Amino acid sequence: MAGSDDHVFTLNGDERWLVRWTTLKGAAYGITYTQKAKHPRIVLHDGMRGRHRLTVLVHELLHAIFPQASEEVIEQAGKDIGKVLWALYDIKPKE
Ligand SMILES: [Zn+2]
Repeated sequence: MAGSDDHVFTLNGDERWLVRWTTLKGAAYGITYTQKAKHPRIVLHDGMRGRHRLTVLVHELLHAIFPQASEEVIEQAGKDIGKVLWALYDIKPKE
């Protein structure tokens, strides 16, 4: 896919996950395809910047790591973790 930026991480012990930044059309900023998918992956909109970019990445990682958790729990945890990381670290994406 043109313009996509791919990274592979081992999560949950031994699961190989693709994390892909690309241009997402529509309302979603991030989508997690769970470990039940043939190729578990997180797809993120590359138009996000700053704290929003960080918070959505954390949110989708939480979906990957805690697949049974409700959207409500993930939403709150993602915002909280994103807020603390953003306050305590200088975080910028590697480009
Ligand atoms: Zn979610």
